[in-house]
This record gives sequence, structure tokens and C-alpha cells, in this order.
Amino acid sequence: MSSEPLVVVEGVRRVYRSGPKEVVALREVSFSAYPGELIAVRGRSGSGKTTLLNQIGGLDRPDAGRVVVAGAEVTSMSEDDLLTLRRDVVGFVFQSFGLIPVLSAAENVGVPMRLARTPVAERDARVRMLLSLVGLEQHANQRPYELSGGQRQRVAIARSLANRPRLLVADEPTGQLDSQTGRQIMELLRALVRSEGVTALVATHDPSLITLADRVLEISDGVLRETPPLDGALPEAASKPGGG
Ligand code: ADP
Ligand code: MG
Repeated sequence: MSSEPLVVVEGVRRVYRSGPKEVVALREVSFSAYPGELIAVRGRSGSGKTTLLNQIGGLDRPDAGRVVVAGAEVTSMSEDDLLTLRRDVVGFVFQSFGLIPVLSAAENVGVPMRLARTPVAERDARVRMLLSLVGLEQHANQRPYELSGGQRQRVAIARSLANRPRLLVADEPTGQLDSQTGRQIMELLRALVRSEGVTALVATHDPSLITLADRVLEISDGVLRETPPLDGALPEAASKPGGG
């Protein structure tokens, strides 16, 4: 890969302290992500996936090390700069969708553009485009409770792309979905990474989704290592029938 990395993570350490107890959630984690890559971050529950994504998306700060996204050092940003990063550079997708219940699908997708003060006509056009990109043009006026889980996550994915982020951070986006719907959501993410040219970091402990990724980062007890995409998926699927 000859281009500059979009994400550089160097020696990141994160320790949670509650009273006398310490949990080392990340141990000197380092890796780079390049433009257009879909990277799966895999590991069982409690391994450090969310903590890692939070450092990269500017939702938390490490105890040591640094994170650079699109040339800017996230780990030394002011709170104002972090807000701008989270609004304009990074798109987030969460396990629980995070939609606003009283807003329609279209209004939810429009929220990041309202925050960015995008002109109304441009916003409306982009909302329509995004809803059709995720196959929901017929559902624009429905509220989240009128949509299925898979449809809600499609709305959340459309919203995450609203401000044309360069990086998509998805934390177990299929964790609340049945396996078939989960597979469809991962295939949608796979297609969008290609068509929109974004880089995506997707945390999951679902082995069946690993095959769609360009690269797989495996995290275990806060230690990150890279594994080949096809290796590992089958043995883990065979040895963990109950899932994580
Ligand atoms: P994953 O997303 O892979 O399930 P997390 O990053 O959420 O893992 O958690 C990694 C470790 O850090 C776990 O041992 C978890 O219990 C601990 N942890 C996460 N968040 C906190 C917190 N706010 N306070 C204390 N410990 C935490
Ligand atoms: Mg998590």
C-alpha cells in the first residue's frame, strides 16, 4: 500500500482505574489503517475493542501513546477540535443504533448535517441520496420504532456517512441483529467502503463476518496482533459454538 495511512496508532495504552483496582484495557497497541481499507477488529467480549475504537474516534484518551487521524493528532486535541473530528472526519455506528426516537429516518440522517450547518436544500438532497444508498428510500418518514433492527442500523449507517467522513468506526454493528440480517449489514458496509472510498474499522466478535474484511486485527486482553483474513475464522467458529 503506497498511500499515506489515514489512521496511525502508536504505542497506545489505556488503563481503567476504579479504586485500588486497575484494568489494562490496551497494552501498547500499534497499527496503521490505509485509505479504502475495511478492517475487522476481532476479539471476545472484554478484550479491548471498544476502548481501542474510542481512542481512534476521539471519545476517550489513552494513558500513553498517540493516535493520528487524517494527519491530525487526536490524542493532543482540545475538546473543541475533538467535536469537529467527531462531526466531520469520523462517522460512528453503534450496536444499539443510537437513533433519536422522535425523529423520522430522514430526520435522523439529517442530524449531523444540521450540526454542520449544511444548507437545507443540500441537506435534503443528501438525505435522499443516503437513504437510497442503504435501500430505505421508501421508509424516509418512518420513526425508528416503525423499522426493523436491520432497517434501523441502515439508517444509522446512512447517518454516519452524512458529513462525508473519511473514517467509519463501527462498534459491533451487528451485535443486536440476527445472523442473516447481520450478514446483510456487513455486506452493506463492505459495499459502502468501496463506493464511498472511506476507511472502516469494525469491531466484532462474530467470526462469520471476518471473511469480508481486507485485514483482521485480533485483540486479546489488550494486546493487538494482525491475522490473515481467512485464517482463524474457521477454527474459532468451530471451537466457540455458543458465541462470545
Ligand atoms: P470489548 O469492547 O472488547 O468488549 P472493552 O474495551 O469494552 O472490551 O473493555 C476492555 C476491558 O476494560 C474490560 O476488562 C472492561 O471490563 C474494562 N473496561 C471498559 N470500560 C471500563 C470503564 N469505564 N471502567 C473500568 N473498566 C472498564
Ligand atoms: Mg465493546
